Amino acid sequence: MKEWMSQWGRQPLVIAGPCSAETYDQLYTTAKAVRDQGIRLVRAGVWKPRTRPNNFEGVGEEALFWMDDIRKELDVAFAIEVGNPQHVELALKHDIDVLWIGARSTVNPFTVQEIAEALTGTDKPILVKNPINPELALWFGALERLANRNIKNLGAIHRGFSFFGESRFRNVPAWHMAIELKREMPDLPLICDPSHISGDRNMIQEISQIALDLNYDGLIIETHPDPVNAWSDAKQQVNPAMLHDILRSLRYPEAASEHPEFRNKLEEIRHGIDVADREILEALHRRMQLVDQIGEYKRAHNLTVLDLDRWQEILESRQKWGKHLNLKKSFIRDLYMLIHQGSIRRQTKIMNKD
Ligand code: PEP
Ligand code: MN
Repeated sequence: MKEWMSQWGRQPLVIAGPCSAETYDQLYTTAKAVRDQGIRLVRAGVWKPRTRPNNFEGVGEEALFWMDDIRKELDVAFAIEVGNPQHVELALKHDIDVLWIGARSTVNPFTVQEIAEALTGTDKPILVKNPINPELALWFGALERLANRNIKNLGAIHRGFSFFGESRFRNVPAWHMAIELKREMPDLPLICDPSHISGDRNMIQEISQIALDLNYDGLIIETHPDPVNAWSDAKQQVNPAMLHDILRSLRYPEAASEHPEFRNKLEEIRHGIDVADREILEALHRRMQLVDQIGEYKRAHNLTVLDLDRWQEILESRQKWGKHLNLKKSFIRDLYMLIHQGSIRRQTKIMNKD
């Protein structure tokens, strides 16, 4: 665990507090309630980036004066979002403990660069939320821009990604993207934001548990004394009692790498997985050879690459076979989309060779 993270005691780190600082009393009440649960890092939005105008946009600098007072009185630390160099200047003037860059800023390299320059050399922890669109390079890019300005205490917040259409998530988690970030930057603390992923206070527990099972280093959970009447993100905030229940009900798994006694058993099972994967790849190789044969045949007889009836039949029959093998329909569908795309690509190449 990074030093900047362990200073607030809890492992994994928990950051809790309102989406937005609304009034002195609201902020004080929340900070006290979470501190009484042993949480010492309190989040609160001071300037709120709203997707559409005419929503509450934060109280601005006034909230920083509240934080000055509450911090002294309750011995808590504060984390806030900064969206431009003026925010940075004010946050540093008020000695705010942790700053984060919001999802709508991470998408914009100009904004990130300006913020990074304003932060040059700071030893404050700076957390970078994933960009709203699922583009890993923007997330890396923001972290690199900060690292280039000699900022060492970095972390990432996974808050999910925008999409078009229906989903039970407000922002789909796309867990594999955060895992990819961690694979490239193994020392970077990774914090999950189940509030913005779900958009629903009844899903916070479920998403937090997934994050812990994936070995995340912390959680940031929007907490408000009266969530239903919150001035922003009312549906996803929990009250302090609910936060307490969620944190108590979570299972806190141990990293296998820290337990040599479990290694042998894991290695034995992993060997089985290696063998199964080799079989999968060999079967794919066989399938692609047959695909090439069909491609040659279609070329010789000038037949189309795509045969919709056959593709329809493949999708349906494989989903049915999968069902008997306890494999989810959507999983088989996604898998065959990929396999079919690969097959079409190979056949198209064969059709068009000189
Ligand atoms: C927030 O944390 O309240 C917020 C605005 O988050 P995001 O940048 O993830 O939308
Ligand atoms: Mn919010």
